[in-house]
Amino acid sequence: MKYISTRGGMSPVSFSEILLEGLARDGGLAVPESVPSVSPAQLEQWRSLSYAELATEILSLYIDDIARPDLERICKAAYNESVFSGSEIVPLKPLNQSMTLVGLSEGPTLAFKDLAMQFLGQVFEFVLAREGRKLNILGATSGDTGSAAEYAMRGKLGVSVFMLSPQGRMSAFQRAQMYSLMDDNIHNISVKGVFDDCQDIVKALAGDVSFKTSYHLGAVNSINWARICAQIVYYFWAWLRSTDAAASAGTDVSGFKVSFTVPSGNFGNILSGHFARRMGLPIHRLVLATNENNVLEEFFRTGVYRPRASAETLATSSPSMDISKASNFERFVFDLLGRDAKRLAQIWKTLGQNGAFDLSAEKARFTEEFGFVGGCSTHADRLNTIRQVQEQSGVLIDPHTADGVKVAQAFVEEGIPMLVLETALPAKFGETIQEATGKEPPVPEHLKSLADLPQKVVIMDNDVEAIRDYIKGRALR
Ligand SMILES: *Cc1c(COP(=O)(O)O)cnc(C)c1O
Repeated sequence: MKYISTRGGMSPVSFSEILLEGLARDGGLAVPESVPSVSPAQLEQWRSLSYAELATEILSLYIDDIARPDLERICKAAYNESVFSGSEIVPLKPLNQSMTLVGLSEGPTLAFKDLAMQFLGQVFEFVLAREGRKLNILGATSGDTGSAAEYAMRGKLGVSVFMLSPQGRMSAFQRAQMYSLMDDNIHNISVKGVFDDCQDIVKALAGDVSFKTSYHLGAVNSINWARICAQIVYYFWAWLRSTDAAASAGTDVSGFKVSFTVPSGNFGNILSGHFARRMGLPIHRLVLATNENNVLEEFFRTGVYRPRASAETLATSSPSMDISKASNFERFVFDLLGRDAKRLAQIWKTLGQNGAFDLSAEKARFTEEFGFVGGCSTHADRLNTIRQVQEQSGVLIDPHTADGVKVAQAFVEEGIPMLVLETALPAKFGETIQEATGKEPPVPEHLKSLADLPQKVVIMDNDVEAIRDYIKGRALR
């Protein structure tokens, strides 16, 4: 399996060569040269596998420059009971007759990003050791991504993490989660500024090519292909689990369709669903759910993609979906255009010039060919949905998952199970849960003492040079 760029300017390279890179050299995103297909018989053979075993099977279709036994070890180390809260890794939780949650938030940071990050941590360590390389991950976070990255990279050889966060802008829970990590390779830097200041510092440092090269700077952002690839696994897992009962009763379930609803921001999670569908997994609809920041919902409704300015981006009660542009979207548009890199490059040029592009001529294909539909929710919708789901099913959901459930309701069809991805647990969003239900959400047992643990963080001015010096003194060389 080789990888090419969506903009056509990269000669085909292997998985390990794109693993540590961000954008392709031509400014595009890496995509597999072809999409592997999985036959119904093959899919049925995977029914008895554990999550880690299923991950090995699916990832080996995309990764052929890591030997099978190594990949198997990597997946076992990423997906086991010492990292996730149960042996299933991803449990399914029925809400009612037609709707089921896919429990993607059983990892250390209680959000779905753990599933991809845990794999990334293991595969980084393996590839860096094999190539005798070092990596210093530099990032900015306002919460979820940074903590998932730190929990995945803690204690890993050859990798260190420098994570900038805005001072006083994260919840007590998020601070405790990140800053209580005492591992030598984890560096928390609390910047006297807002998230955009943190991001500007990262851009300035990573944009300095000689600094970046001599200090082996890298990133783990949502465009990383290894993350997309690892996320494909749970779509297959969820399909298998939701057809288990029928299959064990002797029914032929091949071709049995399910729909997925995905609370979306950067289009990473649902892109993995798109790949699962292209591989042959029987998916009817991929329902894209957004909050008030509806740049993607607008695209699937109108065919016009118009990213917003930061100032136009609202701070909502599902903050991990507050995006102005969707960094993975280009990979979907590449497929939409029949993988025509020339046309894609042209469209992205238009986007740069006009701030928007119009693919309304292709609109019928969004659903017919690719199964996509979209919807959005408001703050009031999320509060109502949290209350309603708790009353009717006794299950407490977080505000992001509530976005999903709200939007999913409009797309439930007779005889087609609707699987809603649970992208975070309510414990992370106490304030909104309190507003919806009048009560604080329960905190998982093992996290109850989190707030009392000592914290390791340095507070620094919003000053690129000071932070550069800090990194210079501590980076792996
Ligand atoms: C990151 C995140 C999302 C959005 O996922 P994308 O892959 O960016 O579309 C949704 N919910 C939660 C809780 C997240 O952390």
